[in-house]
Amino acid sequence: MIDLHTHSNHSDGTDEPSQLVRLAAAAGVTTIALTDHDTTSGLIEARTEATRHGVSFVSGIELSADAGGVIVHVLGHYIDEHSRPLQERLSALREHRRGRAQEIVSRLAADYLISWQDVQEMAAGADSVGRPHIADALVAKGYASSRPEVFSTILGNTSRYVPVLPAPTVDEAIHLIDVAGGLSTIAHPWGSARGSSSIDRAALALWKSAGLSGIEVWHREHSRVQRGQLLRLADLVGLYATGGSDYHGTGKPNRIGECETPPHVLDRMASRVVSRLTAGRS
Ligand code: AMP
Ligand code: FE
Ligand code: FE
Ligand code: ZN
Repeated sequence: MIDLHTHSNHSDGTDEPSQLVRLAAAAGVTTIALTDHDTTSGLIEARTEATRHGVSFVSGIELSADAGGVIVHVLGHYIDEHSRPLQERLSALREHRRGRAQEIVSRLAADYLISWQDVQEMAAGADSVGRPHIADALVAKGYASSRPEVFSTILGNTSRYVPVLPAPTVDEAIHLIDVAGGLSTIAHPWGSARGSSSIDRAALALWKSAGLSGIEVWHREHSRVQRGQLLRLADLVGLYATGGSDYHGTGKPNRIGECETPPHVLDRMASRVVSRLTAGRS
C-alpha cells in the first residue's frame, strides 16, 4: 500500500510525524510520503520512524502556489530538503502565512471572541500556520464542534477568506521542486475547494512543459467519474497518476492509506529520480 500524501502537526495535521508513521505501518502502508504544507520540518522524525518500522519513506512537501489568483497545491516527492532555494522560499511563505492568519483573525474578531494568541496556542509545534489552526481555536471556544464545521460555516463566509498570496506561481513551485531534485504533482486538481473549472488539459500541458511530473487522481475529493476522467487526462498529457489519503489526523475524516498510488507508478517515479541523479553526476 503506497500513500504519497499525508500531513503531520508540523503543518495542519494533528499527529506527530512519528505517530503518523506508526499508524501507517499498522494500517499496512509499505511506502509513505510526508507532505506537510510549506514545511519540511517533520521529515527527519518521520524518516527515522519509517526506518524503524521497515516502511519506505519518500520526502515530500505540499506547496501552496498561485494559479492566476487561485491557490493550487503542488506536491513535491523525493525532494532534498536541504535545497537552499526551496528553504528560502518556504521561510518567506511561512512568514507570509503568519501575517495572513492574523488578518483572518482580525476579520473574525468583529463577530467572535478570538485572538491571535488563541490561534498561536492551537498552532503550537506547527511550523506552518493555516486556516485549520484558526478553526481549532474557534472549536476550542465552543463556536463549532469540528474543523469541517468551521470551514462550512464561519470560515465559509467568503469575506473572511484571505488567500495565501503572494505565493510562488505554479511554474515557480514546479521549478523549486525540480531544483531540489524532486518530482512535482498537482494535488487534488478537482478537489472540492475549487470545483473542476480551473484545471484543464491546456493548463496541465503548460505545466508539463514547465516540468510537471504528475497529477493526483486517487483522492477522496474526486468522484469515481472524475478519477476516470483525470486518469485519461494524465495519459493524454503524459503525466503520472498518483494517489494519496491527504490524512490530517483528527482534522479531517480521511483515513491513512485510503487512496493509493499504484506500485508501477511509484517504480517509474523512483527510476526517473535515480536517472536524473546519475545524469547530474556524469
Ligand atoms: P490554508 O492553506 O491555510 O488556506 O488552509 C487550507 C487547509 O485547510 C487545507 O490544506 C485543508 O487541510 C484544510 N481544510 C480545507 N477545507 C477543510 C474542511 N472542510 N475541513 C477540514 N479541513 C479543511
Ligand atoms: Fe491541509
Ligand atoms: Fe491540499
Ligand atoms: Zn494535503
